[in-house]
Amino acid sequence: MNKPLLLDGKALSLEKEMILKERVQKIKSASGLTPILATLLVGDDPASATYVQMKANACKRVGMDSERVYLPENTTTEQLLQKIQELNQNPRVQGILLQHPVPSQINERLCQDAIFPEKDVDGVTCLGFGRMAMGEAAYGSATPAGIMTLLHHYKIELAGKHAVVVGRSAILGKPMAAMLLNANATVTICHSRTQNLSEHVRQADLLVGAVGRPRFIQSSWIKKGCVVVDAGYHPEKCGDIDLTGIENICSAYTPVPGGVGPMTISTLIDQTVQAAEKALI
Ligand code: NAP
Repeated sequence: MNKPLLLDGKALSLEKEMILKERVQKIKSASGLTPILATLLVGDDPASATYVQMKANACKRVGMDSERVYLPENTTTEQLLQKIQELNQNPRVQGILLQHPVPSQINERLCQDAIFPEKDVDGVTCLGFGRMAMGEAAYGSATPAGIMTLLHHYKIELAGKHAVVVGRSAILGKPMAAMLLNANATVTICHSRTQNLSEHVRQADLLVGAVGRPRFIQSSWIKKGCVVVDAGYHPEKCGDIDLTGIENICSAYTPVPGGVGPMTISTLIDQTVQAAEKALI
């Protein structure tokens, strides 16, 4: 078997940043204003703080500003909604990112849906999801949209292929499945109640691991020639799939780190730049 293709999200995101820099420069020249991504972080989860910092760093690299809003752990739904409304009304802010997860006392769905669709650059609203699923214009949920960009860049054939998505979260598994379906794949979605998970995985031409459990999906379950996308990321620097020996099994795979993660951030920035471009028109 040939050496598998490395789906290098890090390299592609760096390439995309060069283009984003030029687009941001054009926006600045045309409007005299610097596009702003507002990031909302509620509570003091260190992993979430790191993700927000990484997103702010990416804004800086392409010449955008980020407005970072920190709210305490005991923030109520009403207080968060109030902050989101302020950002919705602020014409200087083109995109709003509410870092997931929020503390359990907050109604996260209500708060996500309060983000104006034109500022929903992380693709988290029900309206955005519905529009995307129907094939209408919408900002896609950043992680699955980034995965689609990566697959497209490496010319991975999707039409007629059997895609198996393990995980059905609102930000990852569900939109991933809808995007793959829109690309004419035949899609199976697995979750915690799925029986005989390994049998489903074995049938995948394309496998997306989005389980949130380190190395949960075993490489021995994966069919020869499968395209393997690991969306997971854990402090152990591994994903949701055990990638041991994967080079001898798959036809293409995303490394962890350096696969899906950089594409998520790149997509968020790209969608914020799109929002800023639209605001100019
Ligand atoms: P999540 O909200 O915890 O969802 C996990 C999903 O996995 C759920 O749908 C759950 O099923 C399913 N699941 C749990 N145990 C299972 C089992 N034993 N068998 C089959 N399915 C099972 O997680 P998420 O936010 O989607 O994130 C998934 C992974 O992606 C995590 O590792 C996370 O760190 C990573 N992630 C990465 C990025 C990035 O930028 N790279 C962004 C977001 C997330 P139920 O619905 O039945 O509970």
